[in-house]
Amino acid sequence: MGSEPDPKYIKAWRRMRVLHRVRWAKPVGFVLLALAAVLPDVVEGHLWQAVIVAAGGGIALGVVADCVAEFLRCPRCLRRYWWGSGTNQPVLEFLGPASPPAECGHCGLPFGAERDPDGG
Ligand SMILES: [Zn+2]
Repeated sequence: MGSEPDPKYIKAWRRMRVLHRVRWAKPVGFVLLALAAVLPDVVEGHLWQAVIVAAGGGIALGVVADCVAEFLRCPRCLRRYWWGSGTNQPVLEFLGPASPPAECGHCGLPFGAERDPDGG
């Protein structure tokens, strides 16, 4: 066979895509935080407090997703997929997540590959 998608690969990519979307909670949280800073001048009441709580929750969720993403393993070589991929730019990554690495930094498996391109 060898042409059928490998369920193990499909599952790994799905997990990485979901996690990558969750990582967006962090930049959204920063925007909410900035919004909360100006809200008291614009809107009466305590809406800014609710926005701060939402911002804190978003940033915390994003940081947790960042940490979990670091430990996701490549379905082929089983090493940490996001490590050593050469696409990480720490400052930009802190502000907002770039796209997931295009390939495994260890074995070069392209993101989204449905099976081992070298056979198997
Ligand atoms: Zn790999």
